[in-house]
Amino acid sequence: MLIVRAEIHAVRLPLHQPFVVSYGRFDDMPSILLRIVTDDGVEGWGEAVPDPHVTGETFEGAIASLQHTLLPCLEGLTVFDTEALHLRMDRVLRGNASIKAAVDIAVHDAFATALDVPLFKVLGGRLHDDLTQPYVISIKTPEEVADEASTAVSAGYTEIKLKVGCDDGEDVRRIRSLHRAVDGRARLRVDANQGWSRATALHVINQTADCAVQWYEQPLPADEIEGMAALSRATDARLMIDEGVHSPADLLRAIRLSAADMVNIKLMKAGGIKPSLVLASLAEAAGMLCQIGSMVESAIGTMAGVHVAFAHSAIMSNELVGPEMIAEDIAKLAIRSGRVPLPEGPGLGISIDRDAVDRITIARHQWASPSVR
Ligand SMILES: [Mg+2]
Repeated sequence: MLIVRAEIHAVRLPLHQPFVVSYGRFDDMPSILLRIVTDDGVEGWGEAVPDPHVTGETFEGAIASLQHTLLPCLEGLTVFDTEALHLRMDRVLRGNASIKAAVDIAVHDAFATALDVPLFKVLGGRLHDDLTQPYVISIKTPEEVADEASTAVSAGYTEIKLKVGCDDGEDVRRIRSLHRAVDGRARLRVDANQGWSRATALHVINQTADCAVQWYEQPLPADEIEGMAALSRATDARLMIDEGVHSPADLLRAIRLSAADMVNIKLMKAGGIKPSLVLASLAEAAGMLCQIGSMVESAIGTMAGVHVAFAHSAIMSNELVGPEMIAEDIAKLAIRSGRVPLPEGPGLGISIDRDAVDRITIARHQWASPSVR
């Protein structure tokens, strides 16, 4: 079970429609797929979706750091050595969570595949009967928001998340338009992706107090933990922290300051499966609820999140919606209209379409352990 080879595939995932959030617009999604192989032929797949605004990594820089700095950490490790793997990665590279996640996910996939069990079984087993996912609406006009929300509800979605955080003064109208269109048929959440000032956040939250928004996610810039705490004191609305929490130290600070009621844990921010489980347990100890979220990730990153979500008791919502936004994914998933079936099959439980990977690959790199070179 010694890890002896790895392949990096830098890809651009084609999207059904541009994804627009407060800090940018994505016409396609740059992603880094990683395949590792052991000396007895077991393979594991991982994924990194770096984002300069969230993980602080650029696409090009992440590919180079993965190839030259992280993959050499695999030298001499087996698929069972996840603890040693993270110690090594953290020793050679600070931050860079998404590429650490790629390595962590690939090793976990190979670990469970080697044991011939679905990954959630080695993460603690099944703790939830069902998982549902929200439909995510990009920043759009209030009228477009209403149309898209109505279509999503008709298609069977029971949760809708609206992206806001624009400085055009229309966010109150967007949320009110969503509330009116959905008319109680789905649960609503709002994500400002750091796009509001403290005054704007308080204004929008107060003006939409009757819109049944379950929680307002990352209203303020990531570093404004004290601001989140002040906002929290000023409103009864539930706040979720996302970009403001990457590491256990970040979460401890948010807990100490009562900066949020909930935390959105993403494998790409935390550095993979293992550190995400640490965050979930830390939040649970503080009585804080968790969501497992994602970037716009392919079937690989998405399924890693699904396995974590099924296996941890503190996780009460999920947002693993990448595959529903991707026009050509690299594996087929059974997620439909927000309902996530329990994964079957060993490891991540997906079969990668190598031809599809090749079609969207724009660069590839290889690593081999010195023992097999
Ligand atoms: Mg978010």
